[in-house]
Amino acid sequence: MDYKIHISGLAQGKYEYEFPVKGDLFREFGNQQVMDADITAKVILEKGSGWMNAHLKGEGKVTVECDRCLDQMDIPVDFEASLAIRTAKLGEDTEDSDEFIIVDPSEAEVDLKQFIYDYICVNLPMVSCHPEGECNPEMLAKIEALRAGETKKEETENYSPFSGLKDLLDKGKKK
Ligand SMILES: [Zn+2]
Repeated sequence: MDYKIHISGLAQGKYEYEFPVKGDLFREFGNQQVMDADITAKVILEKGSGWMNAHLKGEGKVTVECDRCLDQMDIPVDFEASLAIRTAKLGEDTEDSDEFIIVDPSEAEVDLKQFIYDYICVNLPMVSCHPEGECNPEMLAKIEALRAGETKKEETENYSPFSGLKDLLDKGKKK
């Protein structure tokens, strides 16, 4: 999937584009948090005399793991952002920022992939959990069992020198 908009030779006016965003975009960026996505990114491109603006609107959902029960859950995605598109020779002083994209005059199109990805990511919550009491009880029970097992193992390891000593003492007593 590409997120490119052809800008060279574009007449002044308003243009609308729509890009579907699926889970593969997140896999491409190595994102481990988002397991799947179903978002529509709408771009309204406005070209005036010597300026260009892109208004980005994303709506849909992403699927992540619940931080508490590790079961899958959907998070709604809804954001808007505006970007100015400037044409300039790329150099040290012309780096992309949150507010604008620099496009080299020789390039015929602008690639919005990074921006769409970034805007989705900054609009995701840092912690994602089901509402209290709505976690998957089976998953919670499994995690609880796993944790209990780990604690038990630690205890056994910690106390093994003493239990070994105790065995010796017991043996000694028997003799
Ligand atoms: Zn949960």
